Amino acid sequence: MNWAALLGNPIKHTLSPIIHREAFKQAGIDGAYIPIQVKEGYLEEVMKGLCFMENLLGFNITIPFKEPAVRLMDISGEEVKLIGAVNTVKRGEDKLVGFNTDYSGFLQALDEAWGENIEGCKALILGGGGAARAVIYALHTRGAKEITLALRSQFKGEKLKEELSWASIKTIPFKKEAIEGALAEQDLLVNATPIGLKGEAMPFSLERLSKNAFVMDLVYNPPLTPLLKEAKERGIPFCNGLAMLLYQALDSFEIWTGCRVEAGPIKEILHRWEKEATENR
Ligand code: NAP
Repeated sequence: MNWAALLGNPIKHTLSPIIHREAFKQAGIDGAYIPIQVKEGYLEEVMKGLCFMENLLGFNITIPFKEPAVRLMDISGEEVKLIGAVNTVKRGEDKLVGFNTDYSGFLQALDEAWGENIEGCKALILGGGGAARAVIYALHTRGAKEITLALRSQFKGEKLKEELSWASIKTIPFKKEAIEGALAEQDLLVNATPIGLKGEAMPFSLERLSKNAFVMDLVYNPPLTPLLKEAKERGIPFCNGLAMLLYQALDSFEIWTGCRVEAGPIKEILHRWEKEATENR
């Protein structure tokens, strides 16, 4: 049997095992996907051990290890170096090879739900953590015209601009007036903060955002965050982070196995989960 894993902390609510179980089934591979809760401070020790497990295909990395894992890779894709975060590791010949599929998953989800040409568009991203970095890289590679980040720490904003000097980004404070002031000009709004996970509302209104714009919330549980509920009520097209989760997983699976499995049957499973999650709220 082959296996893959997820390293993170916490990992209790992850949907990744559901996706990969189905992917193994579709690909006809006898495989398992196991979430491993790694004690903080011990990522390096755990990864060293995993490196020599011969039936391990690879693993995903999630919060809070995506950034610290970068320096533990033997080889990394160009995108990992630029984004500064790794979410997929392939185990090859006793070496760990790092990739980032959050950015490619984001693009596939956005293309599917929005379908507009990203080239020349203006985007406002809320937050500046690992997911926001992947979104910046994705939008940058597709030729977005202007990328603005709303951040609660100006100090972190300056550091981020320095680290991501390959992208041209502006920062604004994570404040009602600043965000509402910027919204009128945007084609795309992306929430890359955890706001909404516990049903919290954003501290601003979408009144100034055009109905031709698109809102993407990377949060997928709850499926309809207060941000997306407002977009829906105002007739602004939107999507949550479920499709991004699916596509980043399918890209990881392809890196590990060389098999591209069909998204359709897994989407049906996730939609059933989404329906139940909405009904249980
Ligand atoms: P992260 O590295 O912890 O970054 C979170 C960012 O949000 C930081 O910039 C943080 O600011 C900011 N933030 C947190 N609480 C805030 C608040 N109350 N007001 C303003 N800003 C706030 O997390 P991440 O890995 O980027 O993930 C962000 C979100 O995306 C999470 O909800 C995660 O579940 C989701 N995500 C989804 C997918 C998917 O496939 N759908 C993939 C990756 C991530 P500070 O730096 O000031 O703390």
